[in-house]
Amino acid sequence: MKKILIAVAILSASSILSANQTARQSKYHLPIEIGHQWTDFNPGFINFKITSPGTKGAEIYQKIVTDPDKYITDNARRVVQTLYFSPSDSIPNIDTINYVVRAFDGISYKSGGGNTVQIDYSTDWIEKSFVENDTLKLDYETRGVIYHELTHAFQLEPKGCGEYDGKSPYWAFIEGTADAVRVACGCFDQDFNSNDRPRGGSWMNGYRTLGYFLYWMQLNKDKDFIKKFNASALQVIPWSFDGAMKHILGDKPENSIENLWNEYQIAVGDKK
Ligand SMILES: [Zn+2]
Repeated sequence: MKKILIAVAILSASSILSANQTARQSKYHLPIEIGHQWTDFNPGFINFKITSPGTKGAEIYQKIVTDPDKYITDNARRVVQTLYFSPSDSIPNIDTINYVVRAFDGISYKSGGGNTVQIDYSTDWIEKSFVENDTLKLDYETRGVIYHELTHAFQLEPKGCGEYDGKSPYWAFIEGTADAVRVACGCFDQDFNSNDRPRGGSWMNGYRTLGYFLYWMQLNKDKDFIKKFNASALQVIPWSFDGAMKHILGDKPENSIENLWNEYQIAVGDKK
């Protein structure tokens, strides 16, 4: 009798635990499924290095990412399936991704060009993101950062609209698309009321301000909006926000960037 009681107690304790785990996991969006046409997509050779091995951040990283090659490859597949319709689209051909985990003041950045890209990820940031010892939170954050940086490796680049200067349409496109992919993959909160979403501003602010707008367009105007926005870099030359919107949605006054932004701002409650 006693044995049975213990068994029941263990059983209910473990079901409570798994219910808790489910609740915790649902707090952080799980990795999106990789579509069957992308499961063999080759993002290039993954050259993974930890160059600050003695740091606490490196130690934590190795605990959450046990197979870096697979982790980076799978997340690259999630990025390309968000940016492209099919592996036969004109996707930048990357031979090598140098992925470096090291100590520096910052979060993560992409450098390099052509067929070789480098992504550095900061052990300082890993330590900061792990202050509450929350492994799921750190995994969610790390995935979000890698979605953003891998977008820079595989996104198209608009022509004739400036350079990477923190203010041009080119810059806004580059950074806005990277954060749109991060939202679409679930590593910024997809709820428009979330504090992850900056309020107000302009599409020219790039990053999350533009990223959430592009995600809203995908939910409300065209289910393939982010893919079409990325593709517009090859189709609209010289590129402009207004030209891209009209190219994707039709050349009508209501599809001007000003009009669509206004509609978005009203819909999400930033403007009355
Ligand atoms: Zn960026």
